[in-house]
Amino acid sequence: IQPIIARREVTARILQAFHLKADKNLGQNFLVEESVVNRIAKTAELTPEDTVLEIGPGIGTLTQALAMTGASVVSVELDKRLIPVLQETVGAYKNVRIVQGDILKVNIPEIIAEVKADQKTAGATGKVAEAESGTKQSDTFKVCANLPYYITTPIIMYLLEQKLPLERLVVMVQKEVAERMTAGPGGRDYGAISVAMQYYTEPKIAFIVKAGSFLPAPKVDSAVLVCKRRSTPPVDVPDEKTFFKVVAAAFSVRRKMLNNSLKNMGGLNGEQVKAWLDRAGIDGRRRAETLSLEEFAMLARTWEKN
Ligand code: SAM
Repeated sequence: IQPIIARREVTARILQAFHLKADKNLGQNFLVEESVVNRIAKTAELTPEDTVLEIGPGIGTLTQALAMTGASVVSVELDKRLIPVLQETVGAYKNVRIVQGDILKVNIPEIIAEVKADQKTAGATGKVAEAESGTKQSDTFKVCANLPYYITTPIIMYLLEQKLPLERLVVMVQKEVAERMTAGPGGRDYGAISVAMQYYTEPKIAFIVKAGSFLPAPKVDSAVLVCKRRSTPPVDVPDEKTFFKVVAAAFSVRRKMLNNSLKNMGGLNGEQVKAWLDRAGIDGRRRAETLSLEEFAMLARTWEKN
């Protein structure tokens, strides 16, 4: 029986045994609250038929809770120093695979395919009938992670933009980042990142995690975000590139009205912007932070190259 890692004294003991100090530059804040770890794993809604990708397992805290769901777990850790630790802490779980590498560089589809292949072979003794009848042998996977804060947004956007068969994303991020990602139009938190997240997923804050639940404690509280991947986009856009260019231009000078900010869409002049806003039926005195996803989509649909 493995000891539960998500405890302050166990984590401290592991770090000491391996002569390790958390590396701040890699966003290493380890969870030391068992109930929080279990709640995150539960929020991922995993079954033994699932494949789950964990980013940054650290010393294996969340990995262990994921392993106990019976799902096939693949955890990608950048810090080479942590690989021997993970072999010790979670190496005994047959359903866990550790990959050393940078999540922004490893070949995610290949890693997932390998895990799925293993899952099939392992199931050959018991679950073969179920697998072959195709009950749940799809290529989809879930992500569950306590993300390194210095690259939270790049990681999430990278996963979403790659169009991977990702069905559910459960990630711990800084509370203010979670608030921005889930914000609706009209408030200060609403920005390009809210639009992007809500275009690809249905993001919701599941619960807040206090800074004291980590070792070392970060300066701010965190939140667990649950993002259900949309099967179809919520709005009709001509092409995503144009849509995201419009969003970026509109928010490029946040405090300015659309009359002005939209000039940044390929260097348009005032008249061209006015004609465009007329076509879209949107008042140029409004600011980007008041526009709904549908209004951004309308702007993308009515944009014409000049
Ligand atoms: N999962 C552990 C936990 O909950 O206690 C650790 C989470 S810690 C916030 C983030 C982890 O991500 C660290 O172990 C760090 O080394 C790792 N990491 C940082 N950058 C990474 C990257 N680009 N790719 C993969 N892992 C990374």
